[in-house]
Amino acid sequence: MGNVTPMTDNWAGFKDGETVRVGHGPSKVDATTLVRLGRIFVLIAGVVYDLCGRCGTEFGTISGYLHRLGGICIACHGAGAGRRIGTVEDAEKVAARRVAEKARRDARRAAAHAQRLAAQTAWREANAELFAALEREHHLHTTHDGEAQRRDEKLTRRPWALIELAAAACRDRAETPLTDDEATEARTLLAEVAAADAADRAARAAKVTASRYAADPGQRVTVTGTVMVAKPYETAYGGGVFLVVEGTGDDAGVTLVWSGSASGMWALRRGDATTITATVKELGEREGVKQTKVTRGRVDSHTPAEEPAAANR
Ligand SMILES: [Zn+2]
Repeated sequence: MGNVTPMTDNWAGFKDGETVRVGHGPSKVDATTLVRLGRIFVLIAGVVYDLCGRCGTEFGTISGYLHRLGGICIACHGAGAGRRIGTVEDAEKVAARRVAEKARRDARRAAAHAQRLAAQTAWREANAELFAALEREHHLHTTHDGEAQRRDEKLTRRPWALIELAAAACRDRAETPLTDDEATEARTLLAEVAAADAADRAARAAKVTASRYAADPGQRVTVTGTVMVAKPYETAYGGGVFLVVEGTGDDAGVTLVWSGSASGMWALRRGDATTITATVKELGEREGVKQTKVTRGRVDSHTPAEEPAAANR
């Protein structure tokens, strides 16, 4: 990646030829740093040593361990240096070898990375349509904007396997994002999801087309249907229930919306069957579906849904 090793500085920030105290307690001795090709060694009485692999540039003690044994490094027993290297020339050879080894390691890593990236790009190009679809799926699951929230109900129906495959396909570290089997599975699941979405849209469109008003404002109506929403609310004057009932049978296509506090309303739950008589207050529309807003109503009948689970999804 074009990483140039600085010639004098090293990871510890020491310069060549600095005087340091090496060892521990009263047995500390003066030593000199030796920095070659960015590698740091320590010169003690004319002999070059590696740094201790554990205490490093603390040269014999570890400040985090001062409460135990005075912080004496257990790796070098407080000597403050590691392996004996020998002369300055020996150290220069060691430094050169280490620099070369690191360069080889870096090159191997870069090559592996490039290979992984190329394989990934190739897969994504070869499966462009699938990848685009999986990216969309992944995006649906990883963003929490308003749109995603509106789709929440739809998203909960997404098979978990598809969510995982989408995440795998979009993972940046993956060499071949999906195996052939996984790609086939993803295509199948995407097709199922697309079909379910299309069915949803069709049902929605049919509902819009079939929707109608129960009567004109001011008229008294009786509607039999299924409770879609039954939500208690509070106001300064007390409480009430926000009710949405979708007509069934002869009342199919009618959506009744009623905010009130009549006695029978409180027991209504989503999925229950009910018959309501009320006066039409206003005609409205929500997402294309005609809504008949009513007032001064009463609950004529109430049949709880057999499955209580229908009330809370
Ligand atoms: Zn040490």
